[in-house]
Amino acid sequence: MIQGIGASSGIAIGKAFVLPNWEWEVPDQKIDVADFAREFERVYEGIRTSKHEIEQIKDELREVVGSEETHIFDAHIAILDDPVFMNEIQGIIQRQYKAAEVAVKEAIDHFVTMFDLLDDEYMKERALDIKDVGNRLLKHLLGVPEIALPKDTQPFILVAKELSPSQLAHINPDHVLGIVTMAGSTTSHSSIMARALGIPLVVGVEGDLNEPINTGQMIVVDGGEGKVYIEPEPAIIAEYERLRESETEEKRKLQHIADRTSVTPDGKSLRLKANISSMKELEIALSSGASGVGLFRTEFLYMDRSRFPREEEQFEVYRSVAERLGGESLVIRTLDIGGDKQLDYFELPEEDNPFLGYRAIRISLDRRDLFKTQLRAILRASAFGDVKLMYPLISSLEEVRAANAILDEARRELDEDGIAYDKAMKVGIMIEVPAAVMIADLLAQEVDFFSVGTNDLVQFTLAVDRMNEQISHLYDPFHPALLRMLLQTAEAAKRQGITVSVCGEMAGDLRALPIWLGLDVDDLSMSAHSILHVKQRLLMTRQEESRALLEQLKACRTSNEIVQRLNDFKATINERTANG
Ligand code: PEP
Ligand code: MG
Repeated sequence: MIQGIGASSGIAIGKAFVLPNWEWEVPDQKIDVADFAREFERVYEGIRTSKHEIEQIKDELREVVGSEETHIFDAHIAILDDPVFMNEIQGIIQRQYKAAEVAVKEAIDHFVTMFDLLDDEYMKERALDIKDVGNRLLKHLLGVPEIALPKDTQPFILVAKELSPSQLAHINPDHVLGIVTMAGSTTSHSSIMARALGIPLVVGVEGDLNEPINTGQMIVVDGGEGKVYIEPEPAIIAEYERLRESETEEKRKLQHIADRTSVTPDGKSLRLKANISSMKELEIALSSGASGVGLFRTEFLYMDRSRFPREEEQFEVYRSVAERLGGESLVIRTLDIGGDKQLDYFELPEEDNPFLGYRAIRISLDRRDLFKTQLRAILRASAFGDVKLMYPLISSLEEVRAANAILDEARRELDEDGIAYDKAMKVGIMIEVPAAVMIADLLAQEVDFFSVGTNDLVQFTLAVDRMNEQISHLYDPFHPALLRMLLQTAEAAKRQGITVSVCGEMAGDLRALPIWLGLDVDDLSMSAHSILHVKQRLLMTRQEESRALLEQLKACRTSNEIVQRLNDFKATINERTANG
């Protein structure tokens, strides 16, 4: 048995599919004059294969999304047919005596740099197309195998060194039973997504693994306990099959409370919403009884493509989500890229401390063009449902004001064009930086709501990188410092009469529920799979008792004391419920 970290609960039993690494090196090989013809032919052959492959992708895509989305691939074919591109490659082969793959790589770099330097969005997009199609051609010249997940086979367990959020965004949950990664942490965005999709995930197994896992091996993944079994004895498989069945049974039972109002026995209603990052996750959230979306992580919309999504594309997605929610509210968070969330087509600088770096609202305020496009799309969607806007990583009043100034510009533009939007759309901020907590009283006067992002707030308050497995034991949401942060935030919101929600992973932690009731927060937003579990506890937890407990927690000096009291409280409620 291999011990890793359980990052998304659930049990998966099946065959492994090991994802190979896909960064390839192009050695700088020189050739002879006599090799020219052969190298030209290799380029022609690579182009033919690439075009054939692109046609196939177009056909597949057309079936899924219609022909609208396939024009990007027409552009790719046009590049492969472009004599200027071909001349550049041939020139490098002939003048510099370089092998076909080296010439292609250099030609791509040449055109990409040239287009990138132009101050023109259209040309910048062409640069991305060249990079994309050029990499495809390179792949064929190097003869590296296609890295695609098996489609027509039985569902499998994906094993990878690491999975980026954008790779995970491409996974079809119907094909993937479970995931095992060598690196990773529970609060990385890949882990958050796996939980939202209900895929069992174990991360950080590398230290305990003596031999690599091979494609085709039988594996059992216990995402709750962080255990992975490779080629286990039949008795272990049988035991896990039983466990999986009882989990399914428990889920089925919980489904009974999906339609019940989420209210405590003494009448405190606490709306339970979902965190989502895609339409896929929205459907899962709705079937888990979510009353609205408290956090739409829009960055995944940006990851799912090879260029920034246009206003129209964003608007369509936001509108569909708003409409699908049928009047329940939708909190759309503006782009929160950076940290562990990268875009292939947007080169972020290498940083020593990316979580403290160029990210989230800082990028939005720097790239006003991108920000305004997103704000216009969100504003337009607000005409189709109860849409609220939220800024991430706010640390000062200046940031709120600067963001609101761009929002006002977007409103004015829409007014001028006679485009409808909700003039009373609420605008709130994430509270996830300690500085924001310290000035929560001031911020509360300028925004309509707070949403506490505990994932980052824990990381910044305790100075513990949320991605670093080595110090994951220090990542402690029940540290007394965090409790004080939460108290201060909730008090500032209450005093100003604005709503306060919690949307970090801690919102779905059953132990924390009395804290939220004690603080009298308005909404909790969490991974869909936690909603019914939290609701079940909410239905038997009194707010009055939670308030008294919170008073005791305030006096605790250590995290251990806090957790002990929360566990005792939980045990008392369990006992009371069991005794009817
Ligand atoms: C958070 O920081 O708690 C949060 C909800 O945002 P994200 O996890 O996307 O950083
Ligand atoms: Mg955050």
